[in-house]
Amino acid sequence: MRYTSTRGAAPELEFEDVLLTGLARDGGLYLPVTWPRLPGETIAAMAGKSYAEVATEVMLPFIGPSPLADEFAAIVEDAYVGFDHPAVVPLKQVGANEFLLELFHGPTFAFKDCALQLLGRLFDNVLSRRGKRVTIVGATSGDTGSAAIEACRGRDAIDIFILHPYGRVSDVQRRQMTTVADANVHNIAIEGTFDDCQALVKAMFNDQAFRDRLSLSAVNSINWARVMAQIVYYFTAAVSLGGPHRPVAFSVPTGNFGDVFAGYGASLMGLPIDRLLVATNRNDILARFFESGSYRSGTVEPTMSPSMDIQVSSNFERLLFDLCDRDGDRVRGLMDGFTQSGAFTVPGNILARANSQFAGLRCSEEDTAATIDRTLSETGELIDPHTAVGLHAAAEARGRGLVAADVPMITLSTAHPAKFPAAVETSCGRTPAMPARLAALMDKPERFDVLPHDLLAVQSYISDRATL
Ligand SMILES: *Cc1c(COP(=O)(O)O)cnc(C)c1O
Repeated sequence: MRYTSTRGAAPELEFEDVLLTGLARDGGLYLPVTWPRLPGETIAAMAGKSYAEVATEVMLPFIGPSPLADEFAAIVEDAYVGFDHPAVVPLKQVGANEFLLELFHGPTFAFKDCALQLLGRLFDNVLSRRGKRVTIVGATSGDTGSAAIEACRGRDAIDIFILHPYGRVSDVQRRQMTTVADANVHNIAIEGTFDDCQALVKAMFNDQAFRDRLSLSAVNSINWARVMAQIVYYFTAAVSLGGPHRPVAFSVPTGNFGDVFAGYGASLMGLPIDRLLVATNRNDILARFFESGSYRSGTVEPTMSPSMDIQVSSNFERLLFDLCDRDGDRVRGLMDGFTQSGAFTVPGNILARANSQFAGLRCSEEDTAATIDRTLSETGELIDPHTAVGLHAAAEARGRGLVAADVPMITLSTAHPAKFPAAVETSCGRTPAMPARLAALMDKPERFDVLPHDLLAVQSYISDRATL
């Protein structure tokens, strides 16, 4: 399979290079040149197969004939064997036709494991075969760092350095990163804020000599392989509720638009989807786009669903490319306008097309709390604030007649409630029990170094420890 950039000015690449490259050279994001389509019988036959079997079937067409393809089934099997539920992503009924798709059974209790557990293994496989190594560098305000570390720990071809703001992440979040004992994992606590950490990472990527010498790389959310891995659970969930013969709707707690774009990808591959709800918290750039056609960034406001506190939604460019009939020049024009003025507006026909498949819905902090409380009293389920944003959007879409009552509604449950105990406790008066695997972190020794907010200090720390 070949891949093209959303801005039309970067070379087409094969899967393995897209995996290792991340962002295209023209600043765009990679997408397959054509979307593979799965026949109805193939989709129907997914019923009863294991998650790893379906995952292999859905993803193989994106890889194409290659040494990686030959080993792919075994890599996928290994990526999901550590999830603590036999279904990997179990579906739970919470109403007459309402369901939660639990995506938090991976090692760090949040949905990013679903893609990153595979990504780390794919990186390692391709790099080892090529005799290359990378140094992965990232900044975290708490959650993504641990998912990236769990994905890369112990992998031969990777060193990973994660910067977190010293004293500014929760105990559990820090311990999820710092108790990992593998020698290729390096935690750096920066004397500064998350923004300082991010600025340091950006500066390291902008230092071309340093970047080349250390083969810097990232596993961030614009990586195509992350989107690809997330397409899988849209298939497994829909098929277990009668797909492809019966369309289903999904409500997706959204930040960078990677997860909900994967749902769109599933529909392009032939899965009948009634509607995709783009559920945002009060950082609602996407909800405003689907209402008005205007994509305009604001200032980030903190919420109790912090993994969705974004100003710019990077994967949205992938949808824009399709809405512009895959015209890379046009996408580049819109994105350049966005860089200059912080906004662009699409014409009415494009907005109408977007709204034929999506709907954007926002959820206030009050409604998030009320949804956690109501869900507990009506169903006995404790849910995390991100999931609550999704459930609120689902109810709202039903109320507005956007999704008919006979269409099953699947809300993606993106984090375990125990990852956000304070918000859950404030909302419903109950503290989620800490899973044994999280509680065990409290007794393990931690390993991290504290560095000043100083680029040279961080660079020399990394140079000294990366295996080249
Ligand atoms: C990252 C994240 C999201 C948002 O997913 P996107 O792909 O960025 O839209 C939602 N919930 C949780 C818990 C997350 O970690």
